[in-house]
Amino acid sequence: MSDAPVRDVVIIGSGPAGLTAALYAARANLAPLVIEGLSAGGQLMLTTAVENFPGFRDGIMGPELMAEMRAQAQRFGAEIVAGQVASVDLATRPFHIVMSEGAVRARALVIATGASARLLGLPSEQKLMGHGVSTCATCDGYFFRNRPIAVVGGGDSALEEAIFLTKFASKVTLVHRRDALRGSKIMQDKAHANPKIEFAWNSVVEEVRDTAKGEVTGVVLRDVRTGALREIAVDGLFVAIGHTPNTALFAGQLEMDANGYLVTHDGSRTNVAGVFACGDVQDHVYRQAITAAGSGCMAAIDAERYLEGLPGH
Ligand code: NAP
Repeated sequence: MSDAPVRDVVIIGSGPAGLTAALYAARANLAPLVIEGLSAGGQLMLTTAVENFPGFRDGIMGPELMAEMRAQAQRFGAEIVAGQVASVDLATRPFHIVMSEGAVRARALVIATGASARLLGLPSEQKLMGHGVSTCATCDGYFFRNRPIAVVGGGDSALEEAIFLTKFASKVTLVHRRDALRGSKIMQDKAHANPKIEFAWNSVVEEVRDTAKGEVTGVVLRDVRTGALREIAVDGLFVAIGHTPNTALFAGQLEMDANGYLVTHDGSRTNVAGVFACGDVQDHVYRQAITAAGSGCMAAIDAERYLEGLPGH
């Protein structure tokens, strides 16, 4: 029997979903505990201007928006700790959550662990990560002033990164495996209108050079139709090919879809009563800050109603 402290609501994750769940749970007097995780603040911490979060007509910087959400949740009594969850046991009641800094138990658990950048899976990409290979244009764009770089991907992330990187780079080659972009029309138009962006269509990155030198000097591209290889000289490679949900902790305990996203029903409920999921960890369709925040609100309300139904509550 664990003697770890018991909380009404524990929230794992501190992006828009987790912090909105915290705000609502705190205002419901549930004194939630938020376990921040390694990437405190979530994906918006890696963004510049957020122009589509309602209420900010001139836009707001991603980190600033997250600082506001955090302070707002804390103002109503949410406790935020900088822990990393090592394991969860959802078969016991209260649920048992082991962190790097100790354990806690939760009558209701809200999972808002988000999703992480997907990688190409090349050994050379792995070796040169942080040495010219990056998944974060906002973090690393500055290092590529007046230098040529490549971005992989055809979705909004790739387009956004490519456009952003033209502020620094001399030229941006957008490498996409098909001949049509997946990103929204407005982003496509912006990218096409940008004279610094060139497109390498029907192409995949076969190898990042030069692992021997320990820096990026170029990428070998393979034409997926002909198999032909060509090398382009770039000093940096930004990988923007989507995300993988952070659900490894819950393998074998919670229902997931084929891509590892948590399955929710009737709002934010998972297949385990008392466990709720919100944000990108359960949404591969919308994946917006505002939808994540909305689903965080749902999870807190669902958790509150669940707790009301527990004996002795
Ligand atoms: P995404 O829409 O899933 O796009 C991923 C892109 O990477 C696709 O073009 C895909 O190619 C390509 N790709 C995937 N695996 C690959 C691989 N192994 N090798 C080469 N290419 C690969 O992901 P996202 O761009 O991160 O966007 C996710 C969501 O966030 C979307 O809903 C998007 O609208 C939203 N978002 C919005 C904004 C904004 O509003 N400003 C900014 C960023 C993201 P295929 O097209 O061939 O599948």
